[in-house]
Amino acid sequence: MVIDKVRLGAFLEKLAAEIVAREDWGKVADYIPELAKVDPAQFAVSMVLADGTELNAGATDQRFSIQSVSKVFTLASVLGRQGESVWVRVGREPSGDRFDSILLLEQEKGRPRNPFINAGAIVTTDELLAGRTPREALSEILIFLRDAAEDEDIQIDEKVAASEKRTGFRNAALANYLASFGNLKNPPEMTLGTYFHQCAIEMTTLQLARAGRSIAQLPVSARMLLPERARRICSLMMTCGHYDGSGDFAFRVGLPGKSGVGGGILLIAPKRASIALWSPGLNGYGNSQMGTYAAERIARFTGWSVFG
Ligand code: GLN
Repeated sequence: MVIDKVRLGAFLEKLAAEIVAREDWGKVADYIPELAKVDPAQFAVSMVLADGTELNAGATDQRFSIQSVSKVFTLASVLGRQGESVWVRVGREPSGDRFDSILLLEQEKGRPRNPFINAGAIVTTDELLAGRTPREALSEILIFLRDAAEDEDIQIDEKVAASEKRTGFRNAALANYLASFGNLKNPPEMTLGTYFHQCAIEMTTLQLARAGRSIAQLPVSARMLLPERARRICSLMMTCGHYDGSGDFAFRVGLPGKSGVGGGILLIAPKRASIALWSPGLNGYGNSQMGTYAAERIARFTGWSVFG
């Protein structure tokens, strides 16, 4: 199906206006005090199509904390650097538990279910750190994002990183638990500090949609992943990208997506579009409430689905 870009652009504008007029935003993440200050009544969507066309609606120049969306790029960096060896340390199954749950970690002897729950992402960050300093590991993720987005102006918000460090007791528990099973190569505080900084990267939806071109395998992407790798990352986004809400997201949207508690969602229509959504209010799973709603509306409007 050839997409009518003018109609799609108009649809996004209308959708943004409709969402801004609503009141059921969900709740901003308050366990990271710096994120609790963000006004939930905000929305932005940016989309890059296969021919490079960019469509934007809402607050697309507003920077937000990408949080767990960063886990996609850390995984891509780790796989790019050392291939598939990371799968010894982390699985590829949905967890069915909250993103910060410790439950399965005990039962499964310290091998997290997947790289998108916190425990799994702490392991991929730890893997990226092997043989390098936190600064070097973080700069690898930033370089990936800057190259992919063709934009040097992508930074870490130190205030958010420090805020999460002060209250990140659960993540500290997860890191220590991983270490107790011998599944951490670096001191827990070093891996955690790097993880908090990676989560505190801030971007606009336009920057994120541009960075996502690499995952969406768009020919206009400035940085390409191996096609097989991009497909596998997408499969993990589909099955695990929204934690215990992944099944519901797949049912409603039918496209791979990765959320973050800052309210961002990176949504991929493979070979068709890279889409970034942002609305800081969260649903009960810790995923953007209006971002999920908008993803569902976009999938219905375009007819895009990985299920045909
Ligand atoms: N930095 C957040 C945390 O570790 C990321 C979680 C998320 O975005 N779901 O709790």
